[in-house]
Amino acid sequence: MEKDRRYDVVIIGAGPAGLTAALYAGRARVKTVLLERGAPGGQLLNTEAIEDYPGFDQITGPELAQRMADQAAKFGVQLETARVTGIHRRGDKQLVQTEDGEYLADYVILTAGGEPLKLGIPGESEFQGRGVSQCAVCDGAFFKEEEVAVVGGGDAALEEAVFLTRFAKKVYIIHRREQFRAQAILVEAARKHPKVELITNTVVTEVTGEEGQVKEITLKDVVSGQTRPLKVTGLFVFIGFQPNVQFFDHREHVEHDPLGFLVTDSTMQTSLPGIYAAGDVRSQLTRQITTAVGDATTAAIDAVKKLEAKKHAPTPVPVDLYGPTRPDLVGS
Ligand code: NAP
Repeated sequence: MEKDRRYDVVIIGAGPAGLTAALYAGRARVKTVLLERGAPGGQLLNTEAIEDYPGFDQITGPELAQRMADQAAKFGVQLETARVTGIHRRGDKQLVQTEDGEYLADYVILTAGGEPLKLGIPGESEFQGRGVSQCAVCDGAFFKEEEVAVVGGGDAALEEAVFLTRFAKKVYIIHRREQFRAQAILVEAARKHPKVELITNTVVTEVTGEEGQVKEITLKDVVSGQTRPLKVTGLFVFIGFQPNVQFFDHREHVEHDPLGFLVTDSTMQTSLPGIYAAGDVRSQLTRQITTAVGDATTAAIDAVKKLEAKKHAPTPVPVDLYGPTRPDLVGS
């Protein structure tokens, strides 16, 4: 028998935002499914130590993800593995298309996060997975006693660079400006670390290697214009990411900021009625686990309130623009 895929709420993406939305929707007893293409956790799965999630002095990303997933499951939310390909409006409902079929929902909470950005330089794609990486936790252990470079000046770059010192004997952080975007505490930790060297006002212009493995990168000083080689066997790229908003037919119809992140109101409602955005996919000042779970809480509570209001709303009277249609009004 064909599975009934009609839900009150469909949540797309099981990172911290999606898992939190699932928790709140589940606790409110609305019929909810959480769609995720991989393992639950999102970027938590690429984060080693988390020290800025209240209530935990320190917890690993995968452990926090597991706890969040278990908690949401406890309240009856179904987690299904599905790759979403499109979101379309059908009357007052939302049709969510996946590679394995369609789901119909009153409300969609989009918590699909984003993809890491690439430098777009020669050799980057060629050596992807053979020295070039976007995940220190996944690949760091392959670089024991080797020299590696990290590109970027944000929280991720600084945090991951220090993490890589567990394995590598030397970690260069290459940043295109003098000032770092990262939190001061992370910059200080990197600066103080004996295995870390900061190289500012510099970009990486090429990755080269031998026998299919990275052996060298080319650095360019953006002030002097001079180039020089740097011998490293790993290049970790942490230069931000692009939001996963490719599900909409006509992107111009959903309001987004210049980087593509979705603009919402204070209830996390996007410019498309019935579609909320929460977490990294949303345009906002910062993208933290704490802000993701906050956004998701607001979105789920608002969706639940709207579902309640719909349930108690009087059945709409058909409106006939050309005259009364209600029998009691006919002839009056
Ligand atoms: P981000 O904050 O957007 O930083 C990206 C960095 O990469 C910036 O320093 C940027 O330089 C640089 N960059 C961008 N494009 C580049 C290019 N083509 N070539 C060279 N450098 C380039 O991204 P993120 O570090 O991934 O962090 C994303 C969000 O997650 C942030 O809100 C961050 O706070 C959060 N996060 C938090 C934690 C934590 O709190 N523990 C950990 C990880 C991430 P410019 O500065 O010159 O633009």
